[in-house]
Formats: sequence, C-alpha cells, structure tokens
Amino acid sequence: MTQRIATPSKTKEIIEANGFYFKKNFGQNFLIDSNILENIVESGEITKQDCVLEIGPGIGSLTQILSERAKKVIAVEIDSHLIPILQQTLEHCHNVEIRNEDILKTDINSIIEKENNGKPIKVVANLPYYITTPILMDLLENHRKVETITVMVQKEVAQRMQAQAGQKEYGALSVAVQYYCHANMNMIVQPSCFMPKPKVASAVITLRLRKEPVFEKIDEALFFHVVKCAFGQRRKTLLNSLYNQGGLGLTKQELTEAMKAVGLKEMVRGEALTLEQFGALTNQIAKIKQEASMD
Ligand code: SAM
Repeated sequence: MTQRIATPSKTKEIIEANGFYFKKNFGQNFLIDSNILENIVESGEITKQDCVLEIGPGIGSLTQILSERAKKVIAVEIDSHLIPILQQTLEHCHNVEIRNEDILKTDINSIIEKENNGKPIKVVANLPYYITTPILMDLLENHRKVETITVMVQKEVAQRMQAQAGQKEYGALSVAVQYYCHANMNMIVQPSCFMPKPKVASAVITLRLRKEPVFEKIDEALFFHVVKCAFGQRRKTLLNSLYNQGGLGLTKQELTEAMKAVGLKEMVRGEALTLEQFGALTNQIAKIKQEASMD
C-alpha cells in the first residue's frame, strides 16, 4: 500500500512544501483520517468495473484510494493552485484524470458518454459544503446517468436528506432526494478529522438512484410545485398554502375535494405528507385541471 496522503503530518508536509493556503470560499476542509476515507469508498461499493466522478479532490487524499479501487477516476477541482499539487501526489495513479473546472459548469453527460460508454457512473466526494444542494440537485433533476452518490456533507443536511414525514428535519430536500433515490446515512464524522476543522459535524450519505421511478405516472413539474408550496409556509395548512401560493387555478372547494379524494384532512400541514401522498395529491390535482380544461 502506498503511503497515505490523509494523515495530519503528510497533509501538513504537502501543504507547506507547496506554499498552499486554504480557501474558505472554496469549502476547503481536507480529510486527514484515512480510515474515514476507506469507509467512504467502502460505502460507495467501488469496484474495478466502476468509473468514478470525484468532486473536489483537494490534495488527492480520497482520489488516491479511489484510484486503487476503481477502473477510472475523473477528479474535478476548481482551485488551479491545487492542480500542480495533485499532479505530484497522484503521479503514480495512472487511472486518474484531473480536470481544473467548476463542477457546476462541467459537462457531466459528456464524461459519462466518453469515459464510460454512456453507462451509469458513481459519484464520490467530500463535498464543498457551500454548494452541496446545487451539485446534488443538478445530478438528480437532470437525470444524469449515475448509479450511486456517496458524499460527505454537513450532518444536518444528511439528516434532512433521509428524514421521513413527521420528523423535524423533514422538508423539500427530503422529498426531492427520496423522489429520485434511496438515502442511507453511513456515518457521522467529527470536525477533528479535517484540516482545518470545520465548525459543524459532518456525515457520509449514500444515495442509490431508483432503478424504477417512484410513481408510474406523474407530472414532475407539478409534483415539485406542490412540494414547494407545502413547505414554503410550514405554519399554514396545506390547503391554504396551495390556495394562496399555488397559482394552480383551482378553487378552494376543488382543492379540498382533491385532498379528500386521496384521504387527506382539510387541516393537514404539508410537512405531514409522505412522498406517496404528495404523488397521489399531484395526480389528483392534475386530473381536476385536465377535466377543467376540457369543459
Ligand atoms: N477531497 C478532498 C478531501 O477529502 O480532503 C478535499 C475536499 S474539500 C471539502 C472540497 C474541495 O472541493 C476543495 O478541494 C475545493 O477546492 C473543491 N471545490 C470547491 N468548489 C468547487 C467547484 N465548484 N468545483 C470543483 N471543485 C470545487
């Protein structure tokens, strides 16, 4: 086994030798515990068949382990100061391609086409926390060909992603993530495992993209519109949120009937609805809208 980059002394040595300074605005908190990194790679179930997209390789600590387990690793790093360091630390990792790009501007579909013949890739990352949601929603909403996403995120974001109806962390992010994936939090990671230490605890979560859509038939835009209304004003009833903010073109009476038809009480709040209930309500609203347009 080659010497691990992810130890406090090795990380410090690389950083000092290259005159590198951490940039807060890029969310640079490097992992210095290689057991955690091994666990991330285990959680991602990376094998020699896999093409992996790593977001934000930093100085290459996770990349090094991914390179040993995967067929190919594409590592996208925004900070140009890290590129010469990565070329050095990963010089023996011949299956790693380093790209100096902003992940939010990277053509991920073309990576999937060119590097994996259009077959689903796996995403693994210790994410820059300031753009966790845009990165994940880009992968999910655009239906990128991805099998699993295993990422380190803020602990409370991981809790929100896997929360169920009725739990205090449950919100629009929970519904959005669970609409596309099965979410499973693998471990909690303390600030002392990073250099520099972040202010918050972190967690590793694996999102397994659903092989079949959760609903056989659904108007996706309407579904997410209903979800957004439901959580937009958490203290209001779902009926009032949909009627006042929904802009759905339905009367209060029609909305009450739509809710009743799927077994929802008039006074229910949005946060009490399960994913399935959001789906059933969306389909019922779509049906009423369609009937109204045919009158
Ligand atoms: N993977 C390394 C590790 O585990 O030690 C570093 C993780 S650090 C939390 C996040 C990394 O993402 C940094 O290297 C940062 O420069 C990079 N980054 C930040 N914004 C990015 C973006 N928009 N696109 C690509 N990389 C980005």
